[in-house]
Amino acid sequence: MNKKSILVIGMLFILLTACYADNPATSDQLQQREEELQPKEGNQALELLNRIMEQAKKGMTLGSPYNVLDSKIDEAKAEWGKPDNEDHAGKGFYATYQNKSFVFGFNEAGDIFDVRSYAKELNEITSVQIEDLFGQPDQLRETNNEEIYVYELERKIELKFIIPKEEKGVHHLSVFNPERAKNEYVLDIKGESHQLSASAWESMKEWRKQIVSFAQENENVYINGPNKKQVALTFDDGPDGKVTPAIIDILDEYNVKGNFFFLGRNVEAFPEVVKKAYTNGHLILSHSYNHVELPKLSTKEIQIEIEQAGNAIKSVIGKEPSIIRTPYGETNKQVVELAQQQGYSVVLWSIDTLDWSQKEASNIVNNVMNHVRNGDIILMHSDAKKTEAAKALPDLIEGLQEKGFEMVDLETLLNIKAYQ
Ligand SMILES: [Zn+2]
Repeated sequence: MNKKSILVIGMLFILLTACYADNPATSDQLQQREEELQPKEGNQALELLNRIMEQAKKGMTLGSPYNVLDSKIDEAKAEWGKPDNEDHAGKGFYATYQNKSFVFGFNEAGDIFDVRSYAKELNEITSVQIEDLFGQPDQLRETNNEEIYVYELERKIELKFIIPKEEKGVHHLSVFNPERAKNEYVLDIKGESHQLSASAWESMKEWRKQIVSFAQENENVYINGPNKKQVALTFDDGPDGKVTPAIIDILDEYNVKGNFFFLGRNVEAFPEVVKKAYTNGHLILSHSYNHVELPKLSTKEIQIEIEQAGNAIKSVIGKEPSIIRTPYGETNKQVVELAQQQGYSVVLWSIDTLDWSQKEASNIVNNVMNHVRNGDIILMHSDAKKTEAAKALPDLIEGLQEKGFEMVDLETLLNIKAYQ
């Protein structure tokens, strides 16, 4: 070994010892040092956030003895008694225990899929603290009134912080298991027409399959209602000056509430018809402004389609709907998200009467009577070209009544709000 090599090795040795000597703190000490740097108030929030994350990984939240992995709502009821409130909302059921500041979401089998805490101490936590500790959320969902910070954990568990736009702190938090939240009562879409070519029928069947599984994956997309002896009659593409008023008259005569998915541009052309439908208790819902395939548009264009239709309806009835049916049933994740941001759920159908294809009244009635199941959402049309739907309606209503089905509006069927 020459002198030069000895010198290099010697210098390396000194350098390494120096590095080691400079960094003697253990991770505990480092954490302590970090904590000393934080103001006291922030410290409590950090501690709380750490506790929240630790429990969320086990499917629990803030001291709830029940989790979203294997707890049943009956366990909570046996221990805590009858909930203060129990409601069917959207795709699940919710039980509220006011004094304990917990709400549990559960499915038809009684499996808890959502544990929400409304503990007061959560108000002390801000979005800045959440992001400082956990980094950017996996999803930031925004609605008209709130922001939802979503962190995706192992076993698909989602930890959500709900922060109202007008407040600084967290309003409540939710530990959510999407696997258990999946609605088990999902119908396939029925309805046939002799007028469709073999290839059109094949692609329709394919579309039906895809849209049903898409709805299963999305909390805010509906194909059908729950397994009760109720169905909803829905009418797209109106209003016009003739068919829509005729349908309103028939519904009124039978004392049945209908659901109208109106186009914004038609609402502007026939405001009196819209007013009549609304005054007589039918739901006025959105079908976009121009009837175009929303997934093919840009973000901005989709927003405008939804907004313009909402504004047109609001200017006639004084309320904006919170349910939209996308034209042709065409939708995707982006459309659903944009609709949700503007306060809308997406509601499609589980029976297509195909009144636009094989138009005879008898075919419309058969498509419903041959297939009807609990919770069906029935698609018909009320624009000027679909004169047969109105002719089919009396037989249809009587047939459904004979089978014991109650015809309700979508607010009742799905337990979601019709208006914002
Ligand atoms: Zn349409």
